Amino acid sequence: MSPGPSVLIEAASLTDVGLVRERNEDAFGEKSLVGGRLFVVADGMGGHAGGATASRLAVEAVEAALGTIPRDPPRALREALEAANRSIHDESQRDPSLRGMGTTGVVLLIGSGGCWVANVGDSRAYRLRDGALDQLTRDHSVVAEMVRLGVLTSAQAAVHPRRNEVLRSLGTAPDVDVDVDAVDVSVGDVFLLCSDGLSGVVDDAAIAALLADDSAEDASRALVEAAIGQGAPDNVTVQVIRVHAPV
Ligand code: CA
Repeated sequence: MSPGPSVLIEAASLTDVGLVRERNEDAFGEKSLVGGRLFVVADGMGGHAGGATASRLAVEAVEAALGTIPRDPPRALREALEAANRSIHDESQRDPSLRGMGTTGVVLLIGSGGCWVANVGDSRAYRLRDGALDQLTRDHSVVAEMVRLGVLTSAQAAVHPRRNEVLRSLGTAPDVDVDVDAVDVSVGDVFLLCSDGLSGVVDDAAIAALLADDSAEDASRALVEAAIGQGAPDNVTVQVIRVHAPV
């Protein structure tokens, strides 16, 4: 269903270093576009300053690439993440201390023409509708691939020693393969973008219950607190996007 000429959206973003890591290498961005809104979460990796630099560069590149709801959103999203990939890779080649840095990227674009999600890596987008939580993105990770092949169950994947290994990332190679999907959107939907610091420790049922809160800000805080309640072994980032009404 089309959300109408434009959509009234309530959004809140929150990031937390967690209880174990010394640095927060996640980053997020929110941008109002002509005719819509853009959201992005990036989860950086790489020693020293690399991870935080990669995630920050990803957010900056995606925001710079999109100023209006584009004519061809899937293509524009793909190009935005390709630009992010080039920006991070170029910087890693210039500065030896940043060699090998990379980041995930998940982007949600919502506006009068519809809703689109793009991703690289294992940061996720979800949609809560009528109490049912759907994962909109496919993880590009070793364990997700093993689950798809039937080698691991989801429960085994959650505690597997290779659970943090991604198969695709932004910045670690000159080129990147980006997944993009058009997503159905209706009034009442709640979208969530998050890093694996949330999805790795808080299960879908708990995420669904917390996302159902009437306030995006309260939901974002409750989600981060739920990860902290599970020991928050990783940086935690959430963006909660509630679709209130067509206007
Ligand atoms: Ca992470």
